Amino acid sequence: MATITFVQGDITRQHVDAVVNAANSSLLGGGGVDGAIHRAGGPAILNACRDLRASHYGKGLPTGKAVPTTAGNLPARWVIHTVGPRFTHEEDRSDLLASCYRESLKAADELGARTVAFPAISTGVYGWPLDDGARIAVETVRATETSVEEVRFVLFDERAYEAFASQMP
Ligand code: ADP
Repeated sequence: MATITFVQGDITRQHVDAVVNAANSSLLGGGGVDGAIHRAGGPAILNACRDLRASHYGKGLPTGKAVPTTAGNLPARWVIHTVGPRFTHEEDRSDLLASCYRESLKAADELGARTVAFPAISTGVYGWPLDDGARIAVETVRATETSVEEVRFVLFDERAYEAFASQMP
C-alpha cells in the first residue's frame, strides 16, 4: 500500500512522477484543475490529448477511466487524465468515482511512477459532496494494491484539506 500524504496547495506545482487531472471526457481541457494543468503544462499536453482522441477516444474518454500523457512543462513526468462522474441524487455513481482512483493508480503502475498527486476529483464543477468525495478517495487508495510509494492528495483550499486529512484513521 502506498503512503498517503495530504497537502494544501496547487497541484501544478508538485514535484512528483505523475499528476492526475480531473479531466472531462473530451480531453480538450476545461476549467478548474484541468484548466490549471493545461495552462501550467503548456501546449504539449493538449497536443498529446488531441492525438489520443484521434487514435483511441473519438467518442471521448469514458467516465472512470484514466489515460496518461506527457506533463509538458510541469515539474512532473506524466499527467494521468481521468474523468470523474457528475454527482446526482438520482443514481449512485460512487463506484465510478472509486474507479478514477483505481484506474489512475493502474496507469501509474504501468508507467513506473513512484509518486502520484491527486486532486479532489469530481468535488468542483461536478458537484460531488466534499466529505463523501474525500471518503471514497482515501478508502479506494487504501484498498488498492499498487507499486506507487506515495499518493499525495493536493487540496486547493483549507476546507478540502480538512475533509481529506480527517479521513485517515
Ligand atoms: P471536477 O469537474 O472533477 O469537479 P474541478 O476542477 O471543478 O473538477 O474540481 C476538482 C477539485 O480541484 C476542486 O476541489 C477544486 O477546488 C480543485 N482545484 C482546482 N484547481 C486546482 C489546482 N490548481 N490544484 C489542486 N486542486 C485544484
